[in-house]
Amino acid sequence: MFPYCDYHMHTPLCGHATGSPEEYVKQAIKVGLKEIGFSDHAPMVHMPMPGITMAFDELPKYHTMIEDVRKRYASQISIKIALESDFLVGFESKTKTIIDSYPYDYIIGSVHFIDDWAFDDPATREYWKKHDVNDVYLKYYALLRKSAQTGFFQIIGHCDLPKKFGARPSIDLTDEIKATAKVFKDTGVAIEINTAGLRKPIGEMYPAPNCLKIYREAGVPLTFGSDAHHPEDVGKDFDKAVDLAKSAGYSEYLVFKQKKIEKRIKI
Ligand code: ZN
Ligand code: FE
Ligand code: FE
Ligand code: ZN
Repeated sequence: MFPYCDYHMHTPLCGHATGSPEEYVKQAIKVGLKEIGFSDHAPMVHMPMPGITMAFDELPKYHTMIEDVRKRYASQISIKIALESDFLVGFESKTKTIIDSYPYDYIIGSVHFIDDWAFDDPATREYWKKHDVNDVYLKYYALLRKSAQTGFFQIIGHCDLPKKFGARPSIDLTDEIKATAKVFKDTGVAIEINTAGLRKPIGEMYPAPNCLKIYREAGVPLTFGSDAHHPEDVGKDFDKAVDLAKSAGYSEYLVFKQKKIEKRIKI
């Protein structure tokens, strides 16, 4: 069955997405989704980053905006309220303050920064030339494990993001991914199949099939997300996502409510 739930989408409050929440909701209904979750970029905790995330004082506006569509479309679709929160070492208490400030249904923890470098930002793509690709991947997986160990997150976002612009490691990272999968299992986080990678230079979903298999074998549960930054991308390529999930051996995905597993849905 087509997964009926898209847990990763943004709003214009982050400064790099288009379309009103209502347009995302309408698209979701149009493509046959029964549940969506808004997971806009949480305010940056080390410095304000307009164009990347909303500002701290915009959080109430975000909540009001989503609560409004949740009420108005309640008879047609279930709408969850979430955040995609950056994992930044050294700023854990600020992060915790934000994610505890509202009854969010789940928090997606994402690693977009290695040290101060937003390695997936097209604006800093040049920096890849100055970095050793293998080193970036090793640092990335170490940060993923650390992010899960905080206990802040229910879902780990796009868990092989360094491939976005096409950089592939030349070393075998199987043991690294296995170690990461074990930490995910032990800390109880889920991962997502994120279809946005299909719309990026790498042209494949996050995570890659071989990685996904390792997470499944370790018993890490699954969610689905389009990472839509435009209404037309809601639920995009979910047919491919469910094929990928099944080929890795998954038979169900999770639905969250107030940071607890609400349901397990068969695919
Ligand atoms: Zn974004
Ligand atoms: Fe992200
Ligand atoms: Fe996102
Ligand atoms: Zn994302």
